[in-house]
Amino acid sequence: MKRYSKQREVVLEILRSTKLHPNATTIYERAREAIPNISLGTVYRNLSELSSAGEILAFKAFDGSEHYDATCNPHPHLCCTACRQIVDLDIPFVEDFAKKSATHTGAEIESHNIVFYGKCSDCCKIKM
Ligand SMILES: [Zn+2]
Ligand SMILES: [Zn+2]
Repeated sequence: MKRYSKQREVVLEILRSTKLHPNATTIYERAREAIPNISLGTVYRNLSELSSAGEILAFKAFDGSEHYDATCNPHPHLCCTACRQIVDLDIPFVEDFAKKSATHTGAEIESHNIVFYGKCSDCCKIKM
């Protein structure tokens, strides 16, 4: 059985407790509350281990930095250009789109990473 380090647990716990898709720096700041002597390098190493193990999702956002998500089944994201938050979009027909794309192209689609850009529903409400 594989042993998980304390750092790895803390990193995973932080990600699971938020819907905000933090980047490594934000995770590092939160991790220091649990493990004061943790280094940014350790946080990066654990994040890359977790994402290659398929336990978390990593994707590039519009600020160019890598953001992380504990929801690891592929799902679309919206990068809000107003509040700069990254939110999950619940679009059930994305899976259908992926399946149809596979049929249409004859390719085998293993995963997808769809990022939309625009204003999130909260920011749209403010405008109204
Ligand atoms: Zn917004
Ligand atoms: Zn997400």
